[in-house]
Amino acid sequence: MQKIIIIGSGFSSIAAAAFLAQAKMDVTVLEKNSMEGGRAQIYKADGFTFDMGPSWYWMPDVFERFFNQFNFSAKDFYELKRLNPSYTVVWSKTEEWKIPATTNALADLLEQKEKGAGKKLHRFLAQAAIKYQVGINNLVMKPGISATEFFNKEFAKGIFQLDVFSSMKNHVAKYFKDEKIKQLLEFPVLFLGAEADDTPALYSLMNYADIELGTWYPMGGMHEIAKAMRKVAEQNGAKFIFNQEVIGFDFDENKIEKVKTQSAEYAVDTVVSGADYYFTEKLLPTKFQNYSEDYWQSRKLAPSCLLYYVGLNKKLPDEVTHHTLFFDADFELHSKEIYQQPQMPTNPLFYMCCPSKIDDSVAPKNHENLFLLIPIATNLKNDDEATREKYFQVMVKRIQERYGVDITENIVHKRSFSVRDFKSEYNSFKGNAYGLANTLLQTAILKPKIKSKKVKNLYFTGQLTVPGPGVPPALVSGEVVAKYILKQQQNI
Ligand SMILES: Cc1cc2nc3c(=O)[nH]c(=O)nc-3n(C[C@H](O)[C@H](O)[C@H](O)COP(=O)(O)OP(=O)(O)OC[C@H]3O[C@@H](n4cnc5c(N)ncnc54)[C@H](O)[C@@H]3O)c2cc1C
Repeated sequence: MQKIIIIGSGFSSIAAAAFLAQAKMDVTVLEKNSMEGGRAQIYKADGFTFDMGPSWYWMPDVFERFFNQFNFSAKDFYELKRLNPSYTVVWSKTEEWKIPATTNALADLLEQKEKGAGKKLHRFLAQAAIKYQVGINNLVMKPGISATEFFNKEFAKGIFQLDVFSSMKNHVAKYFKDEKIKQLLEFPVLFLGAEADDTPALYSLMNYADIELGTWYPMGGMHEIAKAMRKVAEQNGAKFIFNQEVIGFDFDENKIEKVKTQSAEYAVDTVVSGADYYFTEKLLPTKFQNYSEDYWQSRKLAPSCLLYYVGLNKKLPDEVTHHTLFFDADFELHSKEIYQQPQMPTNPLFYMCCPSKIDDSVAPKNHENLFLLIPIATNLKNDDEATREKYFQVMVKRIQERYGVDITENIVHKRSFSVRDFKSEYNSFKGNAYGLANTLLQTAILKPKIKSKKVKNLYFTGQLTVPGPGVPPALVSGEVVAKYILKQQQNI
């Protein structure tokens, strides 16, 4: 039996483990932290359960496809609820839009803001649907090793509709004039970690995911997905070992012979690393690294975040929904302060998640579980307690201005997490939260490769390689690398 070591237990690693174990490989997952999930860990404190990373469950079809390949369905593991409204966008102290879960209702809302926008939304989404189909069925499953992967009839048929070479910003502007509508439709690309004018319009497929496929929530929280995937991997024979940080390798010429942690050594035939790509490269001698330091320094990273996990001993008003985007600030300026002139934002946009609005299990009775997120530039040096607290107070004030409640007196739990925690907790390159930005020059074959060019038996998976950041792409990344390894072995 082939011995496979998988580094890390994020979604990509667990998916790779499941597929390789299903193919009867001897799979061991080594995770530095104490639980599965990677950036989707949880922590429990004072009666609350906090999801530490992802909170939006988009593209339910991708999760279902994963479980189906093991003769399961997502519902065998967790209960999914579709949110309605999908989310709220706060534009100012006095204006917010609750985004309805049906396309027709959203079209009606947009029509009230701009004459003709309702019909245009349907046209915009019809085109986004084609991109989603080609993207999900054709593009995301490619290992991104060579351009020839894309020479096929289906892809050629779709290429003209994919808008690879125009920007998301121009694409949205072709349909809509109203600034708020444009911001609403540009918002999903924030998940891809780049500005709308730097993101290929191909990614309007994310609008299809947002509006047509909907925003869902797995009861118990996002970590339930990682738990479910781990069960699938274990049922197929994979082993998980926690609190095992990989610190290096022993080589036999250009082949890894042993994977080393602080307390053990593991003989191995193949290694798959789902830890941050840059970090894994730094565990290798320079001659075995795929990319130079200059290469990495020239990559455009998706943002980091300033996060707050907050427990309140009272309920927020009913009008507060599960997901709220506070877009009551200058979008362009904040974007510039993330990507062009990296600094803490002058006046941040931020995101508030309140899962206890629909899930009693994540907070004590009559309490509220809050997750607050400000996207910020990676590697900022002024990540200190005073700066974090200053931004916490900004968010508290804006919540008060919009919803008329001062939460200060009701905080019974509070913890922050930012750049230096991303580095220490996940070995994250520059403290990134979501990997590499999905710009045109960092898409598909232009992403860091899943196969080492210099170490015969080393592969990479995760959000810094194909297809990119986000839970569904990370999960797909694990499948892609596992199937690539299996195919290579069949050809030997
Ligand atoms: C705050 C936040 C919010 C997000 N929101 C969303 C969202 O709402 N929806 C969405 O779809 N996506 C979201 N994302 C993105 C999504 O969570 C990630 O893209 C995805 O989880 C990445 O998975 P991964 O497998 O690539 O890596 P990771 O989850 O980073 O897993 C890598 C693992 O490797 C481990 N590791 C590192 N070094 C070592 C070592 N030396 N030895 C052993 N183990 C090691 C780490 O501890 C970690 O467990 C969010 C991310 C963050 C941070």
